[in-house]
Amino acid sequence: MTTSALPADVLTKYEPVIGLEVHVQLLTKTKAFCGCSTKFGAPPNTQCCPVCLGLPGALPVLNARAVEYAIMAAQAINCEIRETSIFARKNYFYPDLPKGYQISQYDRPLAEHGYLEIAVPGGTKRIGITRLHMEEDAGKSLHDGFPDSRDRTYVDLNRSGTPLIEIVSEPDIRTPDEAFEYLTRLKEILLFTGVSDCNMEEGSLRCDANVSVRLRGAEKFGTKAEVKNVNSFRYIRAALEYEIERQIELLESGERVVQETRLWNNTEGRTYSMRSKEQAHDYRYFPEPDLPPLVVTSAMLDDVRAQMPELPDALRKRLVAQYGISEQDAQSLASSRDFAKQFETAAKVAKSPRRVANLVQSEMMGRVKAAGITLDESPVTMQGIAMAADLAESGELSSKMLKQLLDIAFEKREDFPVVYEREKPQQISDSSAIEKMIDEVIGANPKQVEQYRGGKKTVAAFFVGQVMRLSKGQANPALLNELVAKKLDQA
Ligand SMILES: [Zn+2]
Repeated sequence: MTTSALPADVLTKYEPVIGLEVHVQLLTKTKAFCGCSTKFGAPPNTQCCPVCLGLPGALPVLNARAVEYAIMAAQAINCEIRETSIFARKNYFYPDLPKGYQISQYDRPLAEHGYLEIAVPGGTKRIGITRLHMEEDAGKSLHDGFPDSRDRTYVDLNRSGTPLIEIVSEPDIRTPDEAFEYLTRLKEILLFTGVSDCNMEEGSLRCDANVSVRLRGAEKFGTKAEVKNVNSFRYIRAALEYEIERQIELLESGERVVQETRLWNNTEGRTYSMRSKEQAHDYRYFPEPDLPPLVVTSAMLDDVRAQMPELPDALRKRLVAQYGISEQDAQSLASSRDFAKQFETAAKVAKSPRRVANLVQSEMMGRVKAAGITLDESPVTMQGIAMAADLAESGELSSKMLKQLLDIAFEKREDFPVVYEREKPQQISDSSAIEKMIDEVIGANPKQVEQYRGGKKTVAAFFVGQVMRLSKGQANPALLNELVAKKLDQA
């Protein structure tokens, strides 16, 4: 809250209380209750049938894969899974909801009482997860992009009936940074399980935040506002920062916070009141009469557990233990499952896994960020990095040269081996030139020569390294090794 107009001592008088509701589209091929495709980007209203349009007499049939995915997500965030959960109708009127109700779960959701560990300054913090329930998505109202968009709104029902899970956190989050961290971890876990692509631009992951403030030490929660449908984690953090200050300002000037839904305007960097929510909406929930109770057997739980991949936290701990890399390196390497897999492949063939990890952290991350891409999209693969690490390890490539080659690789979008083969430093294979350099190094290091003579043959590596440096990494390594041994034995 660096741009705050409020003095720091006023801000610290209050404690924010934040809870998050995250909607996640499950990555099934077909919708929750019919066989229509869920593929994103099809022409409007081409992926609908009587079931997802809610035509009279059409009956929903639950998608087994959606249940499997929901159970997997629930297990991954440490929830207890209810043996018998109930689908319920959530009734409301909206143009993108042709049925007039959404099939959701209400008082008996699929899963409850989970948690997630997040990193906080000086340690970790456990954020409780109240519930995870299944529901279907609504259609989409299209307010822009048509010649007559000023006067009309269009509706696209392709999304109607797409399976969702809603994950509701406990109001355990205390700062916008914690909210950002919670969302980042949650998304990472969901991506690892493969139940969703979590693509925020396509709406596969959407977040609403409930936020209130109270005097520090107070038991009772303040009146909350809900910030809806912000489409990036950074904006959620910004919206929360804004909203916390807005509420503190109100309270400080003797006014009240109104319970309402607010929308974030990113251009202006502020939230706006969308509708007041003095009373909770009356959705007239009742059990969905067209669907039987959802029964999850222990065999189903075991089956999903058996398919559960290694989750990010466990993966990071294993990388540290197995390859001797730092926690920080493990953090970036485990940012995606594919990437970690690539690292492991590279680490197994590279001479030094630590150097591979190091190169990723010191040379790759910055270049990837500058190019505005993700690690997965990097032109330099982990195989390329493994090769670079080996060349650096053997002294064949100076760190300066390595940086130059990586710059070229990113500029031309080529993998490291391609660039290396074309641009590699000219090797010096002229014996007399190398011998001259060896003489120079031997002359400058009488102590090491003494050690060598005393029988410590491993000192030869020191001379090889020194000469390699002197030759700017251009000495032919095989020849260099041979000549160093010869010269030292003569010395
Ligand atoms: Zn359908």
